[in-house]
Amino acid sequence: MSAPLHARIPVLLYHAVTDDPPDWIAEFTVTPKEFAAQLDAIVDSGRTPIRIGTLVDCLAGRVPLPPRPVVLTFDDGFADLPGPTAEALAARDLPATAYLTTGAITPGRASLLPPAPMMALGQAPLLEQYGMEVGGHTVTHPQLDTLSAAAVRRELRESKAALEDELGHEVLHLAYPHGYNSRAVRRAALAAGYRSAVAVRHALSSERDEAYRIARLIVRRTHTVADVTAWMAGQGAKAAPYPDSLPTVGWRLYRRARAALRGPEFAG
Ligand SMILES: [Zn+2]
Repeated sequence: MSAPLHARIPVLLYHAVTDDPPDWIAEFTVTPKEFAAQLDAIVDSGRTPIRIGTLVDCLAGRVPLPPRPVVLTFDDGFADLPGPTAEALAARDLPATAYLTTGAITPGRASLLPPAPMMALGQAPLLEQYGMEVGGHTVTHPQLDTLSAAAVRRELRESKAALEDELGHEVLHLAYPHGYNSRAVRRAALAAGYRSAVAVRHALSSERDEAYRIARLIVRRTHTVADVTAWMAGQGAKAAPYPDSLPTVGWRLYRRARAALRGPEFAG
């Protein structure tokens, strides 16, 4: 049985916030005007905004869950994040969690993300000054569930170390690129020292969700304030935990075969 409405926890996934995104990320980009309206709707919902670290402590029973929590997350590290996006969040006292793809934000390094205006790794401490928590999102943004165990280990550890060097403290939280994970990938995340990992799943999280595949709702450019308001009410999506569906398993096998042939593509 899925979680009752009141126990459902929306964990939103944003990417870039800009009027002028490159085509490849446009589907997952919201305009600054729409973003501001969505943040206002989140504030008006009366939910308690928390960082992923707090949610994970709650899932583990270390601290009590605040009333009606909501979590805002930002993936990849687009250029707007340490600028207008952080300011829009700070102006409303909204904490958030940013998952950074270190290869995409480090000069001289490469990632599988197509070109886009990105922040710099050196701005990671600035995100924390704005009240954000910083998590890892691998080095090159691969589909982790299609890689060898050694490659998964390298992606998880090298990105964690790069962020820790920059921030001067431990980085405990991970976002799987595209949300893709498997039992082996989840075990590798734990072994690499992450205390949690977020997936995508297009579902609401709940106090019974799994710490190494926390469900998130991806915000697309077509989503409106009405969608956000519905999510804040615990509606508009199913709630995790629930088992992988057969199509999810089949899709993974298909992607593994395709990745072997021609490498990965962006899927959120
Ligand atoms: Zn990503």
